[in-house]
Amino acid sequence: MTSAGKLSLGCIADDYTGASDLANTLTRAGLRTVQTIGVPADDFPLPDVDAVVVSLKSRSILASDAVTRSRAAEKWLRGRGADHVLFKICSTFDSTDAGNIGPVMDALRADSGDTIVLVTPAFPETGRTVYQGNLFVGSVPLNESPLKDHPLNPMHDSNLVRVLARQSKTRIGLLDLAALARGPEAVRNKLVELAGQNVGAVIVDAVFASDLETIGAVALEHRLSVGASGIGLGLARALVASGRTKSQATSGAIADTPVGGPAACLAGSCSQATLLQVANAGQVMPVLHLDPEQVIAGKGEARRALAWATDRLRDGPVLIASSSTPEEVAALQSRHGRDATGHAIEQAMADIAEGLVSAGVRRLVVAGGETSGAAVDRLGIPGFLVGAEIAAGVPVLRAVGAKAGDMLLALKSGNFGGPEFFSDALKLMR
Ligand code: ADP
Repeated sequence: MTSAGKLSLGCIADDYTGASDLANTLTRAGLRTVQTIGVPADDFPLPDVDAVVVSLKSRSILASDAVTRSRAAEKWLRGRGADHVLFKICSTFDSTDAGNIGPVMDALRADSGDTIVLVTPAFPETGRTVYQGNLFVGSVPLNESPLKDHPLNPMHDSNLVRVLARQSKTRIGLLDLAALARGPEAVRNKLVELAGQNVGAVIVDAVFASDLETIGAVALEHRLSVGASGIGLGLARALVASGRTKSQATSGAIADTPVGGPAACLAGSCSQATLLQVANAGQVMPVLHLDPEQVIAGKGEARRALAWATDRLRDGPVLIASSSTPEEVAALQSRHGRDATGHAIEQAMADIAEGLVSAGVRRLVVAGGETSGAAVDRLGIPGFLVGAEIAAGVPVLRAVGAKAGDMLLALKSGNFGGPEFFSDALKLMR
């Protein structure tokens, strides 16, 4: 699994959850996909995959830093043979006049040598459509959507041609729905015409799912594109149709090869869905509820939990949960402060994850976005191969290049998954 061939598609995502979403979308569309945490080291054991999604955290940092990191990611991807690179942004075009979409696009365009870049955040099946360059979130224009009040990047202009023009040094044009509806050849001709007018990037309209297919087919003929998971899907479909993917398997067969070994679950999310999932897990596996007050008091509670788990792992999976009701969470936060409470519990969960893996656990399910991040950081996992889907948006992940060796993980944000999520996950993680 480490005999890396040439990549068909390289992706650079400007945040972690966007990267996971894209990696999952590409996998479901039939591309074998690895998601990496940051730009991988040179000795990263890249499996033989079609696509790599490099997760950066560059959406809201200084534009010059976002450019540096994105270029490093692009260099790594091109070095693995990626002819096409997608710069993955949020489907609501999260950015400010200072960037970071425009500056990163300009830099990657210069590196790639493309004369004109296709840009679209559209993903009609999730309610993101673009018409005459205006982005709609469901039925309302972007500037009337909740994004108008975003704490970091309030979006007050729905016209993405204007929005991108304010961020980019390149002249921005529009590839409208009428041109798109005439098919790939008409789109190619329109792009040549716009490039002749010195336009370096176009916002591409897309209203119907089929529009993404036209966009993907044309974008793949270029070296660079910019967009959300929708254009990712279009590119994936075009790659599959062109026969350039390595495997017909859509289930990520390598990702799902059994690893065996003990299994454990951690729940740090206090969402309603997770509370129900923890309660249901109690019927099929031993569950330890941490005492959050003790967790904040010191390391003893995590040690006690580990000893409890170690005694039971041989007999089957266990679950350790810090989750409690909104009232209990509020009470704890008012005593210790919200950030300190969250941080202490996340670090205790990371301690437990590390201890479980040392005790031999090779299949680990984690509920909670921040909790998962803390666990993955602590376990030093540089990347994941994306496998079968446990619940919408939650795939089985196979660690790549992890210190502990081969292991399977499921990482879910609080509200995801059905009532039996923990046993659903373990059924697919053998
Ligand atoms: P979600 O995906 O549901 O948002 P996260 O893991 O991202 O879950 O966030 C949950 C936060 O709540 C984490 O910071 C976690 O440490 C914290 N937390 C977990 N259990 C408790 C608890 N009993 N009381 C207060 N905070 C908690």
